[in-house]
Amino acid sequence: MSNIVAIVGRPNVGKSTLFNRLLERREAIVDSTAGVTRDRHHGKSDWNGVDFTVIDTGGYDVGTDDIFEEEIRKQVQLAVDEATSIIFMMNVAEGLTDTDYEIYRLLRRSNKPIYIVINKVDSSKEELAATEFYQLGIDKYYTLSSATGSGTGEILDDIVRDF
Ligand code: GDP
Ligand code: MG
Repeated sequence: MSNIVAIVGRPNVGKSTLFNRLLERREAIVDSTAGVTRDRHHGKSDWNGVDFTVIDTGGYDVGTDDIFEEEIRKQVQLAVDEATSIIFMMNVAEGLTDTDYEIYRLLRRSNKPIYIVINKVDSSKEELAATEFYQLGIDKYYTLSSATGSGTGEILDDIVRDF
């Protein structure tokens, strides 16, 4: 069975930026093949020779925090059903929000491995600010700068090891 990693989180945390980064190499190859149609939310990637599919959730990415709880629940449930592993992404620039708590509460009901990723950690200043996310009651989180790719390797090392 193939491994499927879903990226979940509220709007603007950087899910699509990571998704595109993970697909970058493969997409370049796919693009050169004429007539290949691509799904913008599913893509193939690999790490250290291990293949996996990535899902960019975010049907509720309306660019605002005004999300309907029902829509979040639907998206999270979809990701949980489809994925073998889940990246739960939050944004250090905005800090921990009520919606983050809500999403995490829903995710914890699943038995799938959840990788908590704090994005937009572009420098050591944000690294310090990220400690706020321990308030979720978690033991571990990964810090990431989707924009530069810094931190991606540590996350993928652990994800593919758990496949
Ligand atoms: P999504 O709504 O969760 O898919 O978020 P996007 O990937 O569309 O990113 C939302 C905004 O955050 C965009 O303007 C990105 O350029 C920006 N962004 C994403 N990752 C980073 C990051 O690591 N650092 C910074 N500073 N900005 C980021
Ligand atoms: Mg998006």
